[in-house]
Amino acid sequence: MHAILQHAELYGIFGYPIGHSLSPLMHNTAFAHHGLNAVYLPFAVPPAQVEIAVKAIRALHIRGVNVTIPHKQAVMAWLDELSPEARLIGAVNTVQLRDDRLVGYNTDGIGFLRSLEEAGSEVAGRTVLLLGAGGAARALAVQLCLAGIQRLYLTNRTQTRAEELAAFLKENIPHADISVVSMKGPSLSAHLPHIDIVVNATSVGMHPHDRMVLPFADLGPRHLVCDIVYRPLHTPLLQAAQHQGARTVDGLGMLIHQGAKAFEIWTQRSFPIPLIRAKLSGALAERSTAGPAPNQR
Ligand code: NAP
Repeated sequence: MHAILQHAELYGIFGYPIGHSLSPLMHNTAFAHHGLNAVYLPFAVPPAQVEIAVKAIRALHIRGVNVTIPHKQAVMAWLDELSPEARLIGAVNTVQLRDDRLVGYNTDGIGFLRSLEEAGSEVAGRTVLLLGAGGAARALAVQLCLAGIQRLYLTNRTQTRAEELAAFLKENIPHADISVVSMKGPSLSAHLPHIDIVVNATSVGMHPHDRMVLPFADLGPRHLVCDIVYRPLHTPLLQAAQHQGARTVDGLGMLIHQGAKAFEIWTQRSFPIPLIRAKLSGALAERSTAGPAPNQR
């Protein structure tokens, strides 16, 4: 741990529970790397205390917080301003105290796009199949549409949720070309030959007996397959995709880059990406021997 001096700037993360969060490791590593007199702490905020916690940001002059499950929507009620992405996504994962105003951002989608760029892949003009319609899928869907993909196919176990998300995107991002595909039956197989990028934004893969409905045998070298689950890092989907000759991107990149974007908003400095990746890989390897844990940043 780096030295915390008098007048240190305070940052942190609000979640509940928060014990497994990797964000303190990421941000404290970055503060130490830049020689900044700052500290980042995990705050376990029970749902009934969210309002008090958000108001405490201003009262305690906390410079910035990340927000994770289950508070990403709830915090919005007490913020003064939202970034366009946070407004569209309907959730906030980063708050900055700026000129005594609380400004909310969502860096999840940007983090995902940067993880693809880091792997040498652009999304503009591509056709994407997105699995999931939960909070993470919504962030990714918004950012993918804003980034100018050619077409988005959405699929989800509960199809009505995918249809609601598609309707919302069509209404709010008029140029977006979106279709909903059934997760059941032969639909996914029929679409895969026209897909460039497959993204798993469901929680399937976190638990040993999870079953991914994607027809693995239809994946091939034309596909870039991404999994945002990062515990375990080499999910069954990524293993199967590699076996089929597809290129893959794991979920660690999104975790790191959403944190990097938050750090840039707060400090105008960049994350030392290789150092953070090494630290997180070490921490994840250590924790994997201790059994499954929630994917919680
Ligand atoms: P969420 O809001 O609870 O959504 C969960 C999604 O997974 C829903 O689409 C749900 O479908 C689907 N799902 C759950 N169990 C399923 C099953 N057995 N079969 C098929 N679909 C299933 O969760 P979230 O916040 O979006 O997070 C999703 C995953 O992304 C988590 O593993 C999370 O850790 C990970 N994540 C990673 C990062 C990162 O930085 N890498 C960031 C955020 C999230 P239904 O609608 O049918 O329930």
